Amino acid sequence: MFTALGRLLSPPSCAACSAELRARTVFCVVCARAVIEIPDARVAGVLVVAGGAYGGPLADAVRRLKFGDRPDLASPLGDLLRAAALRAGLEGDVVLPVPLHPRRLVHRGYNQAALLARRAVRSLGAPLNVDALERKRGDRPQVELSAAARAANVEGAFVVRRPCAVEGRRVIVIDDVVTTGATAKACADALRAAGATTVTMLALARVP
Ligand SMILES: [Zn+2]
Repeated sequence: MFTALGRLLSPPSCAACSAELRARTVFCVVCARAVIEIPDARVAGVLVVAGGAYGGPLADAVRRLKFGDRPDLASPLGDLLRAAALRAGLEGDVVLPVPLHPRRLVHRGYNQAALLARRAVRSLGAPLNVDALERKRGDRPQVELSAAARAANVEGAFVVRRPCAVEGRRVIVIDDVVTTGATAKACADALRAAGATTVTMLALARVP
């Protein structure tokens, strides 16, 4: 039985397999070895910097964060984002999480991207803005859809509520996983239209 308080008091554990950790690392030694680095790449026209290739322990950790009611994992996984940003020399003027549709937010109780962003922003040297970008539709989980349906599901789904927060700025958008890049492109389209100078996705994992 794991309660939020129990987890807070228990020793740190691996984000993927729950093995007890001796130091505050993200993964245990075995899982860390199985995380595969992935180069920065343009996906659907958006530069994506990721903590690793989607799969193995990284996929397990993302699933636990999103679907296993483990918002606490946003802390160690946010550190993974920070490390990826440092490695890439990523610079920006404002950091935005990919918003959830309000209905999904109510259902899950938290936006995992916002929790990750809150942690990662500490080393990005740019302010966090959680309400500049809004999701108007596209509340069907992308994971259930084909590539074409993913693009249709999120096309035009995002609106910039606060253009002054992004106009003339280099925007870093935080998400958990980049797959086809449909969500990244939909966010980038809205942000560029609102005057963002560059849009970079910083994600935990990217599907190679
Ligand atoms: Zn592990």
